[in-house]
Amino acid sequence: MKPLYKTFFLLQQDLKSKKITLPNLVDYYLNRIEETKNHNIYIEVFADEARNRALHLQKKFQESPESCGKLWGMVISIKDVICYEGHEVSAASKILIGFKSLYSSTAVERIIQEDGIIIGRTNCDEFAMGSASENSFFGPVKNGIDPERVPGGSSGGSAVSVQIDTCMASLGSDTGGSVRQPAAFCGIVGVKPSFGRVSRHGLIAYGSSFDQIGVFSQNAEDASLVLEVISGADDYDSTAIQNSYQKQDLSFPLRVAYYRPAIHHPRLEQQTKLAFLSAIEWMENQNINCHSIEFDLLDLMVPTYYVLTAAEASSNLSRYDGIRFGYRSSKANTLDETYKLSRTEGFGSEVKKRIMLGSFVLSSGYFDDYFEKAQNVRKQIKAESEKILKDYDFIIMPTTPAPAWKIGEKTLDPIENYLADIFTVQANLAEIPAISIPMGKTKEGLPLGLQIMSAKFEEDKMLKFAAFLQKNLPQTPQG
Ligand code: GLN
Repeated sequence: MKPLYKTFFLLQQDLKSKKITLPNLVDYYLNRIEETKNHNIYIEVFADEARNRALHLQKKFQESPESCGKLWGMVISIKDVICYEGHEVSAASKILIGFKSLYSSTAVERIIQEDGIIIGRTNCDEFAMGSASENSFFGPVKNGIDPERVPGGSSGGSAVSVQIDTCMASLGSDTGGSVRQPAAFCGIVGVKPSFGRVSRHGLIAYGSSFDQIGVFSQNAEDASLVLEVISGADDYDSTAIQNSYQKQDLSFPLRVAYYRPAIHHPRLEQQTKLAFLSAIEWMENQNINCHSIEFDLLDLMVPTYYVLTAAEASSNLSRYDGIRFGYRSSKANTLDETYKLSRTEGFGSEVKKRIMLGSFVLSSGYFDDYFEKAQNVRKQIKAESEKILKDYDFIIMPTTPAPAWKIGEKTLDPIENYLADIFTVQANLAEIPAISIPMGKTKEGLPLGLQIMSAKFEEDKMLKFAAFLQKNLPQTPQG
């Protein structure tokens, strides 16, 4: 579906020339939310609040246009793992039902300071664990292209909210691909910044050394604007970097690397491979030199990622004990029973699986064999990624080995689900930024994504390259 406004710039032009008012715009989006309810995108819509804020911001513009912030006019949804003061947040889990945020995440705080409008919280995989947005207490999210297919995950609601024009941008979270993979499955842009670029204060933790808030939008320029607003140092998160968002130029000829083992990977489906190879061919004619390189660590990515994130998750999720937040089992009579029953009844099966896996790899006797080994492999992945990105401006890959699958198709096979992350987890393991942009469609009309990664903290250059490709790369369907 064609969005009402393809870019924030076009919207602002119309708002400034009074072709449209902010209250009209919010009504349009609220209408779209109503019309697309069967996609199960939103867990909660902040309708009255968004309308009131639109009135207030319209007045602000009439009284003193120069005082309006950078995101004035942008309507944004947030994944249900991002805290917004006074609003419920549940991580799509029964265990947090009824919990209200006591403070806003730094990212939301900064969006509001710059006059953005938050329209609602979006459905996702429980505690951001998943690749299909099927592991939600609120039921699966449905792709806007085909409601029988998954939108990707875990930030599937956020991706579809932008894909079918219920808002202009969305905040998701990306621990191993949860912004880029759904962006690819939905044919939009999704960016995961470098670890430390955006404060994690107010983001419900999954794997703390991997998690980053990322942005979904129709185009790379809008993603870049939102990312700049939410970035930067924060007293509440010491891992958020101090240095500001450096601007960089793209200077051609560019040097781009891609992995030979990725394009020969048995999981890579033919149509995705062909689209990727034709993107490379096109780039070669545009002063972008693409080199195929060896990369021995590809098949170690997924196991390393799942050992480490499960370990971090098992520790992070120990705080949900039936006492301090959300759900408490009514069947419990003792303290021990309160812990056990609240967690047994409150968590879904995927989350339990990961808590068990994480506790196992951290247990004495297995710590060295699994956790420590995975930490060492992560170090190698980081070092190797840094080395490649000293020689090349970017690494490119298909974002996913295949397009969106049918709802239910992979539910029973966790390994199948985990292996769908093979191309996205490197960026989180290595702490580097990555973006997915549209790369045409399959014969059946399913969107494909092209992933670009750059050196740590070089997101500006990466976003400029993404914008260049998005404008120029031919988006022809296969066939
Ligand atoms: N699919 C991956 C997982 O389940 C990534 C999730 C994410 O990035 N939050 O862990």
